[in-house]
Amino acid sequence: MKNNIEFYNSISGRKETFKPINSSQVLLYGCGPTVYDAPHLGNFRTFVFYDLTIRVLELNDFSVKSVINITDIDDKIISRANSEKVAYDKITSKYESIFIDQWKRLNNQLPTHFIRATENISEMISFIEDLLSNNFAYVVNGSVYFDSKNSKIDYDKFVSNEEIHKDQNSEKKFQSDFALWKAWKKEDEEIFWDSPWGKGRPAWHTECSVIASNFLGNSIDIHCGGIDLKFPHHQNESVQVEALSKKIFTRYWLHSEHLLLEEDKMSKSLGNILSVQSLEEEFSLESIRLFLMTAHYRSKITFNKNLLIESQKMISKIERFIDNFNLRLDSKKFKNYDFVNEEIDFINALNDDLNTPKALGVFFNFINDFNKKNNSSAGNLKNAEREKAESFINLFNSVFQCLSVGKSNPLSDNIKDLLQTREQARAEKNWELADQVRDSLSNLGWIVEDTPKGPKVIRKK
Ligand SMILES: [Zn+2]
Repeated sequence: MKNNIEFYNSISGRKETFKPINSSQVLLYGCGPTVYDAPHLGNFRTFVFYDLTIRVLELNDFSVKSVINITDIDDKIISRANSEKVAYDKITSKYESIFIDQWKRLNNQLPTHFIRATENISEMISFIEDLLSNNFAYVVNGSVYFDSKNSKIDYDKFVSNEEIHKDQNSEKKFQSDFALWKAWKKEDEEIFWDSPWGKGRPAWHTECSVIASNFLGNSIDIHCGGIDLKFPHHQNESVQVEALSKKIFTRYWLHSEHLLLEEDKMSKSLGNILSVQSLEEEFSLESIRLFLMTAHYRSKITFNKNLLIESQKMISKIERFIDNFNLRLDSKKFKNYDFVNEEIDFINALNDDLNTPKALGVFFNFINDFNKKNNSSAGNLKNAEREKAESFINLFNSVFQCLSVGKSNPLSDNIKDLLQTREQARAEKNWELADQVRDSLSNLGWIVEDTPKGPKVIRKK
């Protein structure tokens, strides 16, 4: 089933019908995290959007080869390692593990490859040597810069006129030139690699260009990233590959919008830290994932905890539906059935530039209509009706992944921990804490009832 998929291509500024270079496999690259700190919710908005893109392609029977880089060397990592007086790879391995753990627990599929920058330094050096030997780059004081004028590359496609590159680096010949290799400086202390131009390290744009072209080739189908990477990062990634290959590097550029916290963009540099870890204390990971998909990926979201509570309510509603009609979750099941109209509308919404709000609307309309039609007969639902509902639930979850498949115990560890904390608080007559925990459980969609046999939780109606 290969349906028509349309993606909004950030470079052309319009929706385009998706046609991969090779119909048997889609090549997709996503810019990954810089592992100097734990990722925040804004980072995961982008990463869940990568997962969504891949799942929608797979739903349409495309096989996807995906590569996501891990930036494990950069100025922030060096300064953190040197100020904490620890090896840089102590910092990067710690935050890489946190990133991958959260990636998995938020139900993102693993990409074909996660690739660390530091494992490809020699490939980056030979790529820079190729640019130098073609006169597309020049060396100044041990640093290497891309020569934007000599490369004769079309720069205008990435940048609108009002965007001005404010980098005042005096070593560069032209404003639009950029670093490929950064020479060692005293503050870097012991962190450097040897190169034909002296000690130093590759620059970020070069990391992504080399990892993408080494693992996927010089022409890829889809390049994803947060909108803040469009310029200059993606421009610079693209022009250096195209200078050498003389081919279009990426056919579809997909950029996700920011998650905002009040008035500011959520980024570490602005100090607006909202870690997944801290949110997990109050909300389920499934509700965090669903929240990140409730808005269209190209719309800004302003974060507020009520939105997570709303997402949790949506999940509770689906879980009640599943319980009520005794439906089975089975990730493969929907493929065995012919899709009904509502399912086709759901798939069409996703194929229309990943329109998740519209797809959610179709899905919840189905649930509401089904409830109205069958509520009196929940106990003796006809097989055909049950199959229809199971098919759609499983189709929904194949993309949204916010229902736990095959979980024998519906209580997550988080809920169990909260219940235990409440019992402890009650034993110690700490009523205030016990009430706070009861409220947290309520936010997660659970009501606690104290019975002679101990506390029991039931899903909120
Ligand atoms: Zn990148």
